[in-house]
Amino acid sequence: MVTAVVGANWGDEGKGKITDTLAQQADIIVRFQGGANAGHTIVNNYGKFSLHTLPSGVFYQHTTSIVANGVALNIPKLIGEIDEIIGRGVPKPNILVSDRAQIVMSYHILFDKYEEERLAGRSFGSTKSGIAPFYSDKYAKIGIQVSELLDMEALREKVENVVLKKNIMLKYLYNKPELSVDDIMRELEEYRDMIAPYACDTALYLGKAVREGKRILLEGQLGTMKDPDHGIYPMVTSSPTVAGYGAVGAGIPPYEIKKIVTVSKAYSSAVGAGEFVSEIFGEEAEELRRRGGDGGEYGATTGRPRRMGWYDLVASRYGCRLQGTTDVAFTVLDVLGYLDEIPVCTAYEIDGEIVTDFPPTVLLKKAKPVYEVLPGWKTEIRGIKRYEDLPENCRKYVEFIEERLGYPITMISNGPGREDIIYR
Ligand code: GDP
Repeated sequence: MVTAVVGANWGDEGKGKITDTLAQQADIIVRFQGGANAGHTIVNNYGKFSLHTLPSGVFYQHTTSIVANGVALNIPKLIGEIDEIIGRGVPKPNILVSDRAQIVMSYHILFDKYEEERLAGRSFGSTKSGIAPFYSDKYAKIGIQVSELLDMEALREKVENVVLKKNIMLKYLYNKPELSVDDIMRELEEYRDMIAPYACDTALYLGKAVREGKRILLEGQLGTMKDPDHGIYPMVTSSPTVAGYGAVGAGIPPYEIKKIVTVSKAYSSAVGAGEFVSEIFGEEAEELRRRGGDGGEYGATTGRPRRMGWYDLVASRYGCRLQGTTDVAFTVLDVLGYLDEIPVCTAYEIDGEIVTDFPPTVLLKKAKPVYEVLPGWKTEIRGIKRYEDLPENCRKYVEFIEERLGYPITMISNGPGREDIIYR
């Protein structure tokens, strides 16, 4: 049985926590897209961790963690993360990396940085992890698969061609030092030795696991708004963030994904540039940011303050629909306990018209939020285990959102820890 855990919004919805919680009952956890650009924050009995490449199942001994073919594989980051968790007392996890995954090279990171510099004020707000240059190369068919490290001679020929193209850009567009084939080959040799113990045909492994009825979790990164097809293009990420891509990025049959848990936070936040209709500013935003998440809403990768906003039903309903949601996990509800009243964005006003279906970017730019205001509950809800024990106004908030979303909220997260979860 395959379950996907994905984000309804801009990312940072708490997918890591939900995956870590669901992983107790899973055999295999798979990262199927994205790279080290976003982080999952997990709080468990070993401490607080920020994972960028490893799936959120690495804290259990009974699970296998897979970095699948769809991922932008940053090998030094992956090895660094494995070393870090082991160094902090986590037993050595069982990790497999797809030999068809492609490698994030140092020049991808450089190009990401140079392009952001060149665009200056018009930049995408990239985390400069090399993700866009990496996926561009993948689809331009000049990316490097892990399996290619088995034939360094053939690889050298490919690298010569890559370096030729990259150097033209470096010299004429960016005015930066050129690459050398020898340096790139040395980098690849290092990567070969680092990744060898983990590399295998993970799709073959997963195919067998599916047939054996193993419990598999597909862990998404970011959320629907950042999907290159369905999100707020061009302020999106470079690989699909929708659950459907889980089949491609992990190499499993699409019809095997039976459950799609879409994670949606009780308020909104976003990192980087791009349309965000229910964004709030000033003191109101600062307070929510300070109280938000677990110790404030700051980027797990960059430490940047996240942009804050009220819950956006227009974006979330769209986000859930494109994910193919079967269950909603509604997270970080505890944080809203300080508010007298809670605005919820129920529609957009665009050129004087009320819109409830999420429009394309060009119209989003003109959208103004329409709010309905719900009463707050003004109490701490952490530690509550049963839905009926939540304050009435808190349940009303959940039920209002559930009804307007049109998807069942089956899990409520009321704290950062594994045990802070209410099943409905
Ligand atoms: P992801 O990228 O979707 O995994 O999200 P993040 O790693 O950014 O998680 C959001 C933050 O919220 C992290 O600091 C989590 O520890 C924290 N978190 C997750 N669920 C809850 C919750 O229910 N309540 C609180 N207060 N914090 C939570």
